[in-house]
Amino acid sequence: MIDLPAVEFHIDSQGIGEGKGLVKRYRYGLFDNDTSRLVLDLQAPGSLDRMFTLPPQGGNGYRLVFDIRPTSRADFLANVRKPVAVAHRAPTQSVLAPGQSVRRSKDKRVIVIDAGHGGNDPGAPGAAGRPEKDITLAVAMETARQIKASGRYQPVLTRDRDIYLRLRDRVEVARRKKADLFLSLHADSLDNRSVRGGTVYTLSETASDREAAALARRENKADILAGMDLADEAPEVASILIDLAQRESMNYSARFANYLIPELKKRVLLRRNSHRFAGFVVLKAPDVPSVLVEMGYMSNIQDARMLGSKEGQARLASGLLSGIDRYFESVDREQF
Ligand SMILES: [Zn+2]
Repeated sequence: MIDLPAVEFHIDSQGIGEGKGLVKRYRYGLFDNDTSRLVLDLQAPGSLDRMFTLPPQGGNGYRLVFDIRPTSRADFLANVRKPVAVAHRAPTQSVLAPGQSVRRSKDKRVIVIDAGHGGNDPGAPGAAGRPEKDITLAVAMETARQIKASGRYQPVLTRDRDIYLRLRDRVEVARRKKADLFLSLHADSLDNRSVRGGTVYTLSETASDREAAALARRENKADILAGMDLADEAPEVASILIDLAQRESMNYSARFANYLIPELKKRVLLRRNSHRFAGFVVLKAPDVPSVLVEMGYMSNIQDARMLGSKEGQARLASGLLSGIDRYFESVDREQF
């Protein structure tokens, strides 16, 4: 995985391609607003021999050159795991309460707004025409705008255009930006088109009901749909420290949901069991309180119209902002 500043790729394929030799497959694209990422899937264990850039030549732009040579599985594992394990999962940060880690390093709390789906993953089709990926992006942008305008927090979008992001890349934005809160926005779909209203989800290994479990399966499938099977990814996330931190942030997540729901309820229709639990991959940042908001049903015509309207989007965004305010008021009360 190679991270670059935001660059324009001049490669003649659409973000993904077949490799040669050791490289089985590659993919690239904007990872967030200021990072471009190139990911190489290897055929067999390999290690980076050297890497350098070449200045523009003969009408071509800058070139990034690197050599990968075959290596043993043990060497590969020793090299590869290091940056991931150390850079993003520092235990000193994980053991702090999510509310506490904030004040020291930055002056404004960072709120990550994640517009669900995108690119070649459209999400649920919409009864009013536009797919879920458009709706989530529109509400995310409006929410970020209102959050910024409040002057109280710093909003960060996982995507601000129609691009595909893996679920765990979204989680990683939250970790890297040391987010104080992570909100993933979605809109659900059901065969029963009369069902409408929003639901707020927080993480749990055991889903609160069958519907929640089925929804988590649908949302988690996004990566497989987009052609990237997660089955062969390293499962070593389950260290004890992460487990502990996750339990703590699960409590904070549930608390945030409790403050968020009444504020949303004042502005939009919510379902009767408006706080549910399920195992969403996108909520698994161990040290960032996270919620997933299903803002309504794309399959219901009234919901789809509300979600597609500027006015409905502004109401949702204002509900989210008020929920964020109430939550941090409670966190601050606790600290004095
Ligand atoms: Zn979704």
